[in-house]
Amino acid sequence: MSRYCTKCGAINDDVAQFCTNCQAPLTPVSGGSGYQPMQAVHPGAITDWKALGADKKITAGICAILVGWLGVHKFILGYTTEGVIQLVLGILTCGLTNILSIVEGVIYLTKSDEEFVRTYIQNKKGWF
Ligand SMILES: [Zn+2]
Repeated sequence: MSRYCTKCGAINDDVAQFCTNCQAPLTPVSGGSGYQPMQAVHPGAITDWKALGADKKITAGICAILVGWLGVHKFILGYTTEGVIQLVLGILTCGLTNILSIVEGVIYLTKSDEEFVRTYIQNKKGWF
């Protein structure tokens, strides 16, 4: 989108207040009030992060904090290998790995839905 200066005909940016060529104040583009309500530029761009896996965030986060050494949160996220490793390590260390899991759970819960999906669902980040 661009608009033409009514005085000199120079092309100006749509959001410009004054002509870049002659500094004449630019009038609003369309008629009427000139005010256009905010609209979604790309209607299809609104992503349903919950549908993409963000709905697992709370469950995985809580499982990680409460019973993290079982690796349940890994299985929830589809990380079977990491889940088994965590379970075995948890048994070997008598649940000491729970400290790591609590950290992971807090990380999960503090991420936004978008970050969570990008990090754990799409990038498959197995640890932390
Ligand atoms: Zn001008």
